[in-house]
Amino acid sequence: MNSRDIISLGLGLEAPWEIKGQILDTEKVPYELRLTIKADRGAKYPCPVCGAMCKARDFKVKTWRHLNFFQHHCYITAPVPRIRCEHHGVKQITVPWASKGSKFTLLFEQAAMVLVRDKPVLTAARILEMKDKRLWPTTRERRRMWSRWSPICPEPSSPA
Ligand SMILES: [Zn+2]
Repeated sequence: MNSRDIISLGLGLEAPWEIKGQILDTEKVPYELRLTIKADRGAKYPCPVCGAMCKARDFKVKTWRHLNFFQHHCYITAPVPRIRCEHHGVKQITVPWASKGSKFTLLFEQAAMVLVRDKPVLTAARILEMKDKRLWPTTRERRRMWSRWSPICPEPSSPA
């Protein structure tokens, strides 16, 4: 098992998604592990409305903050396809590791919400080594994250 296999297993990646690149950027402080995930050319993706498997129409490169790799920040970058469903037209797919519109992976969001449940946002952001405005850039983003994670991470009576 090589390092890509180990990281794929850790991320729970399944076909068509694969780790295509990994770089530990030692120019940054703290170091940054940058993972590139891609799907094979010609792969099909489920329509987010009906689930029909469709070919990619085009791609938009996106990056998500992931949980730290040891003490180093980790970012995932992937070209995310828009598909053309014959019933629903052109739709952006949702990648399996992040929710729609989020700049964080699901695992990072979950960890952040556990911290924010018990601590002020500024303290949680410091623990996560990020600016508090990146954690919750908007009230809408806060509501989206709470609604997603509240079943396992109830909102405190007065969130900071
Ligand atoms: Zn569809």
